[in-house]
Amino acid sequence: MQFTLLYPGYKAKAVTFSYDDGIIQDKETVSILNKYHLKGTFNLNSGQSGEEKIRDDLNCSHLVLKDDFHIYDGHEIASHTYSHPHLETLTFDQQKLQFLTDKIDLERLIGKKVLGAAYPYGTYNSDTLKALEELGFKYCRTTKSTYEFSLPSNFLLWHPTIHHRDPLLFPTLDRFFESNDQLALFYLWGHSYEFALDKNFDLLDKFCDIVSQKKDILSATNYEIYSYVSASQMVYYRRGFFYNPSRENIYLKVKDDKLVIPQGGSLAYEDK
Ligand SMILES: [Zn+2]
Repeated sequence: MQFTLLYPGYKAKAVTFSYDDGIIQDKETVSILNKYHLKGTFNLNSGQSGEEKIRDDLNCSHLVLKDDFHIYDGHEIASHTYSHPHLETLTFDQQKLQFLTDKIDLERLIGKKVLGAAYPYGTYNSDTLKALEELGFKYCRTTKSTYEFSLPSNFLLWHPTIHHRDPLLFPTLDRFFESNDQLALFYLWGHSYEFALDKNFDLLDKFCDIVSQKKDILSATNYEIYSYVSASQMVYYRRGFFYNPSRENIYLKVKDDKLVIPQGGSLAYEDK
């Protein structure tokens, strides 16, 4: 049986955001996402909470997480290691401690599991992957732009579509709207202080405005994308029934028929 997987709500496409370092300009980024009812993932370093930082004359200090973590309500908080080191220069144990400490600190703070991460500086080695796996992380984002809308074959090496500073941002978004990829995903990443440095928070506003007007696009956090995509891969068809052993309701279409296969259940369907 040929079928096409869709996102929740029968949407063909999704957009997700990933912003790093937990700096004061995240407040502005979050308020723009909120204005358009879009969801993002924010990668935080618990060991840098409250640390002051000046970059090119701009104050881009880290948020005091214990006071400010509520700004991320409605979004996902993920790990970016404890102190933002170049992971590939560390031993396996040091790398694991970087993620473990950050994970524990963030989980205590927000009272929820932290299951995703982003690599500081985008660098890693085989020990990093092993540490992430042992700690139960489900995904980790790199900094390598794919300019594509496909899903990663390995979520621990999740390459984003594009950085917001890339001049190809809007041409790539146009290609995304035309794309016929199954479960197409536009994955945008960056740092909020870059909008402040470039004085262009309006770029994010424009991007969000365009995306939010498309009715066929789901907005989801990184983890929600990971979780749904992984679940959708379990669905199969046999002798008149779709089966869904996963814990999420899965949306799909067969020709023009739109179906929801209930979590842990099945649905009778005969091809006409
Ligand atoms: Zn970073």
